[in-house]
Amino acid sequence: ARAWTLASRPAGTPVAKDFALVTLDSVALGDGEVRVANRWLSVDPYMRGRMNDVKSYVPPFAIGAPMEGGAIGEVIESRDPALKPGDLVQHMLGWRDEATGPAGAFSKLPAIDVPPQAFLGQFGMPGMTGYWGLLAVAEAKAGDTVFVSAAAGAVGSTVVQIAKAKGMTVIGSAGGAAKVEWVRSLGADAVIDYKAGPVVKALGEAAPKGIDVYFDNVGSDHLDAALAHARVGARFAICGMIDVYNDAKPTELKYLARLIGNRVRMQGFIVTDFFPRASEFYRDMAGMANTLKREETVHDGLEAAPAAFMALFTGGNTGKMLVKL
Ligand code: NDP
Repeated sequence: ARAWTLASRPAGTPVAKDFALVTLDSVALGDGEVRVANRWLSVDPYMRGRMNDVKSYVPPFAIGAPMEGGAIGEVIESRDPALKPGDLVQHMLGWRDEATGPAGAFSKLPAIDVPPQAFLGQFGMPGMTGYWGLLAVAEAKAGDTVFVSAAAGAVGSTVVQIAKAKGMTVIGSAGGAAKVEWVRSLGADAVIDYKAGPVVKALGEAAPKGIDVYFDNVGSDHLDAALAHARVGARFAICGMIDVYNDAKPTELKYLARLIGNRVRMQGFIVTDFFPRASEFYRDMAGMANTLKREETVHDGLEAAPAAFMALFTGGNTGKMLVKL
């Protein structure tokens, strides 16, 4: 079996030499353990944070050890009655072609009729992030005007569609004409190409009466634009700030003081807080499974995993970024 390790902590934007592909010793299974051949690996922006040696809500990746991440695989050997060869499972031992561990570290896929890899995207962690961030953190409701950044990504494209399904007006932002077109096809009422001009101006034109909710995936100019156009009582779900993950650059927020007059509430959140409510998420999402659109950008082969990861920061994906083994 082979696995990607972190060879060095990236200084700024990760480069190929920060990663090393190593061969793992083959280990015999102990009682209660299973062996899984990975079929799909997830690469996600939050992994960049785990590459820094800083205290956070998840521990940093250790130098020289296999990295972790979401994955879908097939059980190929089992010494536990709960799982048998052929079972498809989801787990966190990604960045490798084969995963071995206690059966409890692997869970069978929910009984929803979508392709297995959807449980790494819209029906998995990114989907839950969009769903709960919008509905529970921002308390978005029918009639609200919602602005969501990185709207052509895994989380953002789910936010757009959940918001439309629940009766909201939606403005998305994404980089480039093709992504703008795709976000529009998801039902967004207006879409901003943030690469074509200042977000603050485009948002003012798209939402002349202001926004009730901002779902932040980007930070920086997008957050500032949302502050500039927040209505009284607006709620901001601070999900991610991908614009600053590679460089701890200072963010200048010209419109920060609007928080006060407009009584804006900003709330950061981590999706794991909502994992106990997974069955509620699956129930609601299963009802929409036939109408929700999903896009994937797939890189082939374990060798491609670092490139797939790095391309998240240059907009190389539409929908969920995946590695297929
Ligand atoms: P995406 O599928 O959205 O991929 C990242 C996208 O971000 C890219 O495709 C790119 O799209 C956009 N992007 C990259 N760099 C910039 C930049 N400098 N400025 C503006 N846009 C940029 O990833 P996810 O859906 O997995 O994640 C989206 C956000 O949600 C991230 O910030 C992530 O950290 C966060 N997140 C938070 C969680 C939580 O628990 N709080 C859980 C999961 C995700 P484009 O071409 O449009 O620029």
